[in-house]
Amino acid sequence: MRQQNWSKNVDFNDQAFLLPGSLVELQDLVRSHQKVRARGTAHCFNEIANTSSYAINLAKMPRVIEVSPEKNSVKVSSGLTYGELAPALHNQGWALNNLASLPHISIAGSISTGTHGSGMKNQNLANQVLSLDMVTAEGDLRHVDRTNPAFKAIVVGLGLGGIVYQYELKIEPTYEIQQVVYPEIPLDVLQRNFDQIMGAAYSVSYFTDWGSKQVGNLWCKFRKSEVIPVSVGGRAKADKKYHPIPPVDPVACTDQLGESGDWHQRLSHFKLEFTPSVGEEIQSEFFVDRKDAAAAIEAVSRLGEEITPLLWITELRTIASDDLWLSGAYQRDSLAIHFTWKKDLAIYPVIKKVEAVLRPFNYRPHWGKVFTSDSKYLSTVYPKISEFKALVDALDPSKKFENIFTRSIFL
Ligand SMILES: Cc1cc2nc3c(=O)[nH]c(=O)nc-3n(C[C@H](O)[C@H](O)[C@H](O)COP(=O)(O)OP(=O)(O)OC[C@H]3O[C@@H](n4cnc5c(N)ncnc54)[C@H](O)[C@@H]3O)c2cc1C
Repeated sequence: MRQQNWSKNVDFNDQAFLLPGSLVELQDLVRSHQKVRARGTAHCFNEIANTSSYAINLAKMPRVIEVSPEKNSVKVSSGLTYGELAPALHNQGWALNNLASLPHISIAGSISTGTHGSGMKNQNLANQVLSLDMVTAEGDLRHVDRTNPAFKAIVVGLGLGGIVYQYELKIEPTYEIQQVVYPEIPLDVLQRNFDQIMGAAYSVSYFTDWGSKQVGNLWCKFRKSEVIPVSVGGRAKADKKYHPIPPVDPVACTDQLGESGDWHQRLSHFKLEFTPSVGEEIQSEFFVDRKDAAAAIEAVSRLGEEITPLLWITELRTIASDDLWLSGAYQRDSLAIHFTWKKDLAIYPVIKKVEAVLRPFNYRPHWGKVFTSDSKYLSTVYPKISEFKALVDALDPSKKFENIFTRSIFL
C-alpha cells in the first residue's frame, strides 16, 4: 500500500487502499462505499488523488491490450502504465502519437488530469481517447464515446465522472524517432523565433533555469520524415548526452545524439527502468496561449533571481488546442511553462508570484501539479467549468467521487 504520493509531499489519508481484481469486484466496491476515489500511480504533486475515505486502484484488474487494426485503435485497461502499454503496442507494429516525459504513470491518472507531451501539432494524451468505459457512482457500467455529448467533459474528468476501467485509444503504425539536443540557445532568441524553434521537430522541449546566462537546451525529437538541421537558433547539435538538469548524469535519459530508436524509447525523456527526474522535487505547470509565448516568457524571466535558486529546471513545451472542457489547452494552442522545484518551503510564495505575472495571460494550472489559484479564478480561465460541475452533479448526486481538492475547485 502506497502511503504517500510519488514526490512524498502528500500523505494519503485513506481508510483503505482497495485493489479490485475484476470488474464485478470493482462495481461491488463502488456500490458498497459511500465515498471512493480512484488512484493511479500517485504521481500528482497535489491532493488530487488523496481521500479520507477509500482509494481504489486498478493495477490488479485483468490486463487488456487489444489492437483493432481496422479501426486504428487499442482497447486497454486503464490501470496499466504507458510503460506497459507502449512496448506491447510496438511489438504488434503500433504506436501512440505521443507520450509524457516519463512512462511510469497510469493511463487513467494521466488522461484524467490532461497530461501532455510536446509538439506544435500534438494535443495532450487525453485526445488519444476514442471511448471510455467506466463504473458510475451507482456501480453501473457506462460506455462513453465521441458521439456522446458528455465525452468532452469527462475525459479530463479529475476522477469525478466515474471510475474508468478501460479506454479505446487512437493508434498509428509504429515509427522511429531521433533525439537531438541543441545546447545553450539564448532565451531572447527563443522569444523572437518561438514558433520556428519550437516547431523544429515533431516534439520539442526547451530546458532553462532562468539563470544569469539566460540560455536553455533544446531537446528535439524528430520523426524519420523530418530533416535534422545542423543548427537550431544558431546553436549546433550536441556531441554529448544531456539530462534535463545539466549537472545530473544522463544515464536515466532516453538515447540522444540522433540515434534512431522506437517511438516509446525516445518520446519520453526518461527510461522506464530508471527513476525519472531527480526525485526530490515538486512540480508546477501553467498553460498560456502560444501567441503570448514571448511576453509570458519575458514576464517569468523577470522573476529569474527568485526562481533560479529554488529550481532544478524549467521545461517549455507546446500543446495543440483541443475541445476537452478541462484540458489546459482547451480551445487554445498552448505554451506549457513547467517548473521542477527543489523541495523547499520557500517555493510556495514564488509559485504565487509566477501565477501573478502569468495572470494577464489567463494562465491555466496543470491539474496534477502545485498551484494556488482559487475556484473564482479557475472559473474565468476554464470557461466550461460550471457546465462540468453540473454534469458531475447529475452523474454523481451523492458526490461519491469528490475529495477536498475537487471541492475546493468548485466552491
Ligand atoms: C517525474 C514526473 C514527471 C511528470 N511529467 C509529466 C509530463 O511530462 N507531462 C504532464 O502533463 N504531466 C507530467 N507529470 C504529472 C503526471 O503525469 C500527472 O500528474 C498524472 O496525472 C499522473 O498519473 P497518475 O496515474 O500517477 O495519477 P494519480 O495521481 O494517481 O491520479 C490523478 C487523477 O486521476 C484520477 N484517476 C486515476 N485513476 C482513475 C480511474 N481509473 N478513473 C478515473 N479517474 C482516475 C484520480 O482520481 C486523480 O484525480 C509528471 C509527474 C512526475 C512525478
